[in-house]
Amino acid sequence: MKNIKIKDKEFELFIEAEKIENSIDRVADRINVDLKDKNPLFIVVLNGAFMFAADLLKKIVIPCEITFVRLASYQGTESMESVQEILGLTESVENRTVVIVEDIIDTGNTLTTLIEELKKQHPREIKIATLFLKPGALKYNLHPDYVAMELPSDFIVGYGLDYDGYGRNLTDIYKLKN
Ligand code: 5GP
Ligand code: MG
Repeated sequence: MKNIKIKDKEFELFIEAEKIENSIDRVADRINVDLKDKNPLFIVVLNGAFMFAADLLKKIVIPCEITFVRLASYQGTESMESVQEILGLTESVENRTVVIVEDIIDTGNTLTTLIEELKKQHPREIKIATLFLKPGALKYNLHPDYVAMELPSDFIVGYGLDYDGYGRNLTDIYKLKN
């Protein structure tokens, strides 16, 4: 098993890039069918979702717009309860089908806040596409429409996800060693 060290922590190889790509392809196929005539606006949540968004959106073949927002609830390896405001959303979401593109849903705190903020702008509907879902950690009543992979509650890095700013560039997913 391949191990890596990031700053003070040891991580072990958990999910290889090819497996991630296959699960993203399945999500893209479904979105292409479901949202065919809906002219969706994809809202990518930075920073973590950048790699997922790039790979997902290359496979989207229907007319769509793509924008990016910034919103963070994590520092180090523990989820914080407070979430900041949405930054960077200049497009109008009024009466649009919006697809939030997230890297990972852990407690669901971040996404719940984002959804509440977006609802104030009266979108027609809000869909959620997440690369990873940790069902065991979920504290909010969220039902993501598109989940590439479900994971146990371990802390992971790679493929856009960081540990203290590092590891986002890794093509595979690594999990924290206990
Ligand atoms: P939540 O608000 O759902 O508890 O946490 C969501 C955010 O926390 C994600 O968008 C992501 O940035 C971060 N996060 C949650 N779990 C992990 C993890 O296992 N690894 C990393 N690197 N970030 C995570
Ligand atoms: Mg995120």
